[in-house]
Amino acid sequence: MGKFKIKCLKCGKEYGHQYRLACENDDSILRAEYFEKRLDLRKQPGMGRFHSWLPVQEELTTDAGPTTYKSEAFARELGLLNLYIGFSGYWPERGSFIKTCSFKELEAYPTMQLLKESGGKAIVLASVGNTGRAFAHVSVLTGIDAYIVVPDSGISYLWLPEEPNESVHLIDLSPGNDYTDAINLAVRVAKLPGLVSEGGARNIARRDGMGTVMLDAAVTLGKMPDHYFQAVGSGTGGISAWEASLRLRADGRFGQKLPKLQLAQNLPFVPIYSAWQAKRREIIPEIDMKDAKKQIEETYASVLTNRTPPYGIKGGLYDALGDTDGVMYAITREEAIEAKALFESLEGIDILPPSAVAVASLLKAVKTGNVGTGDIILLNIAGGGYIRLKEDFTLFQISPVAHAKNPDVPLESLNI
Ligand SMILES: *Cc1c(COP(=O)(O)O)cnc(C)c1O
Ligand SMILES: [Zn+2]
Repeated sequence: MGKFKIKCLKCGKEYGHQYRLACENDDSILRAEYFEKRLDLRKQPGMGRFHSWLPVQEELTTDAGPTTYKSEAFARELGLLNLYIGFSGYWPERGSFIKTCSFKELEAYPTMQLLKESGGKAIVLASVGNTGRAFAHVSVLTGIDAYIVVPDSGISYLWLPEEPNESVHLIDLSPGNDYTDAINLAVRVAKLPGLVSEGGARNIARRDGMGTVMLDAAVTLGKMPDHYFQAVGSGTGGISAWEASLRLRADGRFGQKLPKLQLAQNLPFVPIYSAWQAKRREIIPEIDMKDAKKQIEETYASVLTNRTPPYGIKGGLYDALGDTDGVMYAITREEAIEAKALFESLEGIDILPPSAVAVASLLKAVKTGNVGTGDIILLNIAGGGYIRLKEDFTLFQISPVAHAKNPDVPLESLNI
């Protein structure tokens, strides 16, 4: 008897406790339904607190978890009375111990645990840095193998706060290939015997792991926030925040109004923004990301450059934005850099480029009146504390075990 079941949002087909990314009947995403309808906090130091709504049997004992605190200096600068920061990164002074410095680590723990509980031994994923680092870290800690495909431009971000071991298999994709090329190669590698795909937004463990940022905010505040700010590439974090708020609403103790998703991408690559502005469920490449590869090269935060986000599918980002009366922002490089400096100087912690984009969108929202002075705002700083981490830890670069010229190379040639 598991603690949850999995349900297809389209046809309603149910599956038991297992690692599963797709419905047998259609292409809808699956969602976990937990038997505990009330969030019952466990005595764990990190994200394991939120065991009620994580799709794993064994409680996660890691000290990594989301942190929520009320902003003072930055909030004052913006004239906001109730600005809360959801911080995922390394900042021991605030109780944040995510040593790979992004909320991707919140996805990695429950994913690897669910995989293990389902009898799996190895996972395959694509990354431009943050996801790869997170899964590599959890792979080293758990001994579960991780095959990580990274475009060459992302290789330098593949470091660890401990020595890598042989459970981490890094595959380097030649210059000229982007994140989506890495995703395409990872899909092929995952078909090798014994390997399973991590699945991106389709992975319930990944989404519900990220959703703990919203849960942490709700338990800290005693209610759901009015607004949720985050920078998105795939939008998985947005979907996760929405799903977490649906569960909080059903719990009954955290309010009934869903937080308004206010999500941002960075120019010139803004396909989700472009489709949402047009009120379209489909992303049309010729309109929404013309010259995608060139746009991606010019983009400040490469983590936000997914060419195939789970936007139009049932239960995807379009539905999440629609259900929460959501807003999208397109941020320039200059706006992001300026926002980064302002946030860092006032809050006293370094943040990653995508989080600078999120901060810039909040500045914009204040200017345009998309938030009110007294509104309760959750700003998801999904990555930060890298400079802070380096004060405390020696970082180790992960060496690639294979090089691929393009996503279509014969898999035998990789020798993995
Ligand atoms: C991955 C990532 C994002 C974008 O997340 P989505 O999957 O698109 O929701 C934003 N910020 C940071 C720091 C990230 O690592
Ligand atoms: Zn189905």
